[in-house]
Amino acid sequence: MTTLIIATRNAHKVGEIRAILGEGFRYITLKDFPAAPEVIEDAATFAGNATKKAEELARWLTVDSRFTIHDSRSFVLADDSGLEVDALDGAPGVHSARFAALDSGAPGNSADADNIARLLRLMKDIPAEKRTARFRCVIALVEINRQSAIGNRQSFDGACEGQILFTPRGQGGFGYDPLFVPEGFTQSFAELGEDVKNRLSHRAKALVMLKAAWERGFALNKGPA
Ligand code: IMP
Repeated sequence: MTTLIIATRNAHKVGEIRAILGEGFRYITLKDFPAAPEVIEDAATFAGNATKKAEELARWLTVDSRFTIHDSRSFVLADDSGLEVDALDGAPGVHSARFAALDSGAPGNSADADNIARLLRLMKDIPAEKRTARFRCVIALVEINRQSAIGNRQSFDGACEGQILFTPRGQGGFGYDPLFVPEGFTQSFAELGEDVKNRLSHRAKALVMLKAAWERGFALNKGPA
């Protein structure tokens, strides 16, 4: 059975990934490797960060840890995601998690409420028709190779188009969900609830692409991401 090591400690993400990819893999997460190094997400793009996370973990697994590469194949899956607002030239983008801290210089990620407040402040004069935005998620899949650590690799880019509200609405979800109304709906992601969101989301779209590539025999096609 193919092993999939998911480069996250977030149980919600793991559940979403398993629900879409199915039970045909042996799943392992960073919870199983407490000593795995923290990867600095300093790339300029989602794809850059996702690939960096996947490759650093793949290298660590082959060199530093007690991870055993079985005869069956093993892959690392890592993602990076965020919100792109057209009127802000794609911001917050790769800085989505610490958007408010970019102002204050505070270390670490910012509270969701602070990120939302900063976004609304920057967009206060932008009219409804120019408040277009999208959530994006890039998932990188990297094969762990006994000789060189990194084998086949490919990335999958999912997007969910929508609009940014003038005030937050709804109690569900996380991050920028209370401000984001997906195309074709009138409620925010935080109002729509998890089931609807998981069908439309940027992460779901990237995972569906990955699944399709896998079923076409992704692992047989060597090549850069
Ligand atoms: P990460 O890829 O999990 O590190 O997410 C980066 C940041 O993007 C999060 O901290 C959120 O602020 C934002 N973000 C990513 N996906 C979503 C989403 O589905 N809803 C709301 N915010 C999101």
